[in-house]
Amino acid sequence: MKIGCHLSSSGGYLAMAQTAVSIGANVFQFFTRNPRGGAAKPVDKADVAAFCSYAAENGIGPILAHAPYTLNAAGAEARVREFAEATMLDDLRRLELTPGAMYNFHPGSHVGQGAEKGIELVTGMLSRIFAAFGKAPSTAVLFETMSGKGSELGRDFEEIRELLDRTEALAPAETRPVLGVCLDTCHVWDGGYDIVGDLDGVLAEFDRVVGLNRLKAIHMNDSMNPLGAHKDRHEKIGKGHIGLEAFRRIVNHPKLAGLPFYLETPCDLQGYKEEIALVSSLAENS
Ligand code: FE
Ligand code: FE
Ligand code: ZN
Repeated sequence: MKIGCHLSSSGGYLAMAQTAVSIGANVFQFFTRNPRGGAAKPVDKADVAAFCSYAAENGIGPILAHAPYTLNAAGAEARVREFAEATMLDDLRRLELTPGAMYNFHPGSHVGQGAEKGIELVTGMLSRIFAAFGKAPSTAVLFETMSGKGSELGRDFEEIRELLDRTEALAPAETRPVLGVCLDTCHVWDGGYDIVGDLDGVLAEFDRVVGLNRLKAIHMNDSMNPLGAHKDRHEKIGKGHIGLEAFRRIVNHPKLAGLPFYLETPCDLQGYKEEIALVSSLAENS
């Protein structure tokens, strides 16, 4: 199975891949820059080249780049939206250097403008970014399913579908990257989808509303809160309200076979190493 965790990008790409191998991971996620925003370090081409050959030799990937979580493409202020747009464009340009990477982002918060307005802002922004790119980005762009805290967009599968459809309607096919979804287990649980009691039903619902062919990655997190809490507090696997048996069903579900799983639990590296071993032990044929 493809399993890994969120890693610090402070040492560069090769260091992340080496760290991944040292903890038993074959995929990893990282922030494209300081998660609070700000300027990214210039890309070190030698580091990227060393990473690419190391990743190929060690079977690492796909890697998942996570946009800074403070970006808000649906913000009420032009300054906030412009910052999100410039940052995502820059992130996608940099990711052209690491083929096969995927890019995940939080759709945004409409901050009282209403979901309709928020979705209009986000999808408009994506279409401008793709138009400015000069060609279709080779990095798949994933909308993350959100817990629905505050005014978050992507709080249910219908909003995710709306984001996908309207981005496609605005951005001509020849400008678009692959558009997909990253399903966060803590977020959908907190959003009210009962992946503990009815995983089959939730996945059937996802397939009906969004399409399982759109699902490209799983964020694997337990939750500190009960079903439908709309809180978004990640817990270690097996220590929260989702629980180990649900994760056993998740990693073995035929509809999720082959997808990469990324842990974003409150763990240090040693904790992630143990959690990767735990999750791997749940898989029936890994
Ligand atoms: Fe996220
Ligand atoms: Fe997540
Ligand atoms: Zn979260």
